[in-house]
Amino acid sequence: MSSFAESDILRLDSLLRGQGPVCIAVHIHPDGDAIGSATALARFLRSHCGRDARIVVNDPPPETLDFLSWEELVADASRQPQEARELIASASLLICLDMNEFKRAGSLAPALADSGATKILIDHHLDPDRASFDLVFSRTDISSTCELLYSLLTSLPGVKDAASLGPEVCTPLMTGMTTDTNNFANSVFPSTLVMASELLAAGVDRDAILLHLYNSYRENRLRAMGYCLSDLMKISPEGVAVIVMDGGTLRRFDLQDGETEGFVNLPLSLAKVRMSILLKEDEGFFRVSLRSRPDVAANELASACFHGGGHRCASGGRLYFPGDIADPSLAQDYVMNAAARFMRGEMPLEQ
Ligand code: 5GP
Ligand code: MN
Repeated sequence: MSSFAESDILRLDSLLRGQGPVCIAVHIHPDGDAIGSATALARFLRSHCGRDARIVVNDPPPETLDFLSWEELVADASRQPQEARELIASASLLICLDMNEFKRAGSLAPALADSGATKILIDHHLDPDRASFDLVFSRTDISSTCELLYSLLTSLPGVKDAASLGPEVCTPLMTGMTTDTNNFANSVFPSTLVMASELLAAGVDRDAILLHLYNSYRENRLRAMGYCLSDLMKISPEGVAVIVMDGGTLRRFDLQDGETEGFVNLPLSLAKVRMSILLKEDEGFFRVSLRSRPDVAANELASACFHGGGHRCASGGRLYFPGDIADPSLAQDYVMNAAARFMRGEMPLEQ
């Protein structure tokens, strides 16, 4: 898996071991891969390189990730905007993880773009914005940013193996790889299983990670999941399942950010479903999540209709109201319509 140019690895090593504060940035609505990779890298920089490393996020991560104890490392711009801006402005090294361009960092994007720091990108999405970075590690034939980071860290001259990274680095890396592969259900490469094996051998407690990620939910989440499947899910003749969770539904089940994680995958367990689309109401827009079978490019629909993009089979975007639709009650019909046209090959869609 060590397919990096030696000169890039040496440059990375010298930048990580340099002077001054380091700021790590991840995408909006940070998930397990974003927080896992950022926490692992911040801890590595502190323990192995003696650097003052902090993480900036646009908004808080889901509570299921609290066990990673990321809080002491993170400045959340939705609660501490001044601190987040200062961390970015004072950094001598800026490292963006799990995003292909600054825009994916939401409100932090302008400050990141304006920063005078040396900039590194480590990411596994399509179309990296190479021109905005001094050093880029971008691979798409890999499960996650956590796997890419693991591969990079274990390629550094001073790192012998997974065990020498220490549990505080290994545990978040295993966590992000687990969430981005949906617990080894998708995006699993030979290198992914090698990484898992090496991390297990290094002593990572995978059972504890799974307990935190998948078996520690509140009852409301399971009740909401049942309601989504029994009452909200609609399936088009073309095999597109659509679930629209409006504000009323989110309030009725008291759903916090992150508690709908995984819902979008459920309809794909049906033989007839080829793409699943989940909408969650926010202020003035719906957050749109898309998942598809390998023969369907969900990211094309995300960019054509939902101002978004992402991976071929796991992508996202937004549906604005007013704008794309006049009001939220029209979302279901709009999405069913657009998806049906997309599946029939009537693209590009003019919205
Ligand atoms: P999720 O459905 O979990 O929110 O997002 C799935 C994937 O879609 C993410 O890993 C990310 O790659 C991509 N994604 C989500 N929202 C957006 C968006 O607004 N723009 C782009 N370019 N990608 C997105
Ligand atoms: Mn990721």
